[in-house]
Amino acid sequence: MADYVLALDQGTTSSRAILFDREGRAVGKEQREFPQIYPQPGHVEHNPEELWGSQLQVIRDLLRRARVAPERIASLGITNQRETVVLWERETGRPVRNAIVWQSRISTEICERLERDGVEPLLREKTGLLIDPYFSATKLTWAFEQDSELKRRAERGEILFGTVDSYLIWKLTGGRVHATDISNASRTLLFDIHQQQWSPELLDLFGVPEAILPKVVDSSGLIGETDPQWFGKPIPIAGVAGDQQAATFGQICFEPGMAKNTYGTGCFMLMNIGHEPRLSSNGLLTTVGWRINGETTYCLEGAIFIAGAAIQWLRDGLEMLAHAGDSEQLAASVNSSDGVYFVPAFVGLGAPYWDPHARGLMVGLTRGTTKAHVARAALESIAYQTRDVLDAMRLDSQIELSSLRVDGGATANNLLMQFQADILNTAVHRPVIQETTALGAAYLAGLGVGFWETRDEIARKWTLDQEFSPDMDEQKRSSLYHDWQRAVERSRHWLEE
Ligand code: ADP
Repeated sequence: MADYVLALDQGTTSSRAILFDREGRAVGKEQREFPQIYPQPGHVEHNPEELWGSQLQVIRDLLRRARVAPERIASLGITNQRETVVLWERETGRPVRNAIVWQSRISTEICERLERDGVEPLLREKTGLLIDPYFSATKLTWAFEQDSELKRRAERGEILFGTVDSYLIWKLTGGRVHATDISNASRTLLFDIHQQQWSPELLDLFGVPEAILPKVVDSSGLIGETDPQWFGKPIPIAGVAGDQQAATFGQICFEPGMAKNTYGTGCFMLMNIGHEPRLSSNGLLTTVGWRINGETTYCLEGAIFIAGAAIQWLRDGLEMLAHAGDSEQLAASVNSSDGVYFVPAFVGLGAPYWDPHARGLMVGLTRGTTKAHVARAALESIAYQTRDVLDAMRLDSQIELSSLRVDGGATANNLLMQFQADILNTAVHRPVIQETTALGAAYLAGLGVGFWETRDEIARKWTLDQEFSPDMDEQKRSSLYHDWQRAVERSRHWLEE
């Protein structure tokens, strides 16, 4: 009888393995960082062998330290950094080049070309995304334009492509399964989210040979088994989702209108919009959340580039703080930011503005401004940006949120969480378990083999740590938010005089 589900979380800076028991408790955890490769400004790569090597190592370490034999693991789930492109040889499994990481801006020129060609409406309609180097397709175009021999080999069917989930599945199954789950496929710009298949028209547009593509599978259900060479005995692979979708699942946002926001380096908010893919009119992406037993759940997604990173910048750039957590005490030493607004548009603005030419600013400074006001304004900027995205979601979905579920490092900050509730006028719910991304992958994998029977059974495990209720009068809320919007306007288009 199996007692555990194993979740792999292959992130941007580290690979993690976490063991969950039947109650959904994390009973063991291992993590290992791997090198970031920066071949030129704006370009980021990972060595696929290092992704795989670190992932395999943390699983082995975890099983050894927790003294758990593979037969006690019901199934394995994978969640991963999304959009990152891996290319490897079908025959040998050898990567043919480094992985092109989601952060890489290497295909900016290709994107500009596509915009000039006017294909954005077609891409939006088919994929729910927009033209940006962030998504996989233009990274592939770039790799093939760089290396025509690679393109020829791909056309001959000698090369395989996958996002990181796909590469891990291929490695884990000893090269027997070349698959990706639909949530990851929906981030490539090659996948038609209505037809739920790779789009021949888009493959043609991006110059991607069909022969390299993985098979698209459900996010939950048996996908393959790990090769016995890795852990002695086979373990079923039965759940896969991109990191933000997995977190949404781990936060039990199973009903339309439920939403979660993850507060890390940036913020990622996803709202379940049900079984129909509705396109945003307000600067959000439409993406596949998950597909289970052939039933697809879609989400609206808003990405904020700089959130917790603004606090990191106070710490490392301004050297104002020793630890990110100190921001709370410092901010609490004043009653308000006293009219100071901080727009952390360090790399432009993401959703809902999509302005690559915006840059950061601080405005409303007076002779009385202290570092406490600055710290408070930085924390508040995280909450205001979240309101920008949530307002867009309210408009797109016509749904009033009853509460927002939150996770990620910066949710430890109670002042931020209270201000978030105040400025949204919505309750903020922080669960006990913060490992929601890995937990989501575990839930998908556990459901996939009947370790857990139903989604209701899983939903009951979600436990509230703390609720933050709105406690600000409407006039104050709207005047604060109004001034935030004025500050954002001043940061926009800064680089395009
Ligand atoms: P990621 O997965 O993106 O690396 P994490 O979820 O680990 O992010 O969260 C780390 C981020 O949260 C950092 O940017 C850090 O500045 C911020 N952070 C951590 N603790 C706090 C805190 N108590 N208050 C505000 N920000 C915090």
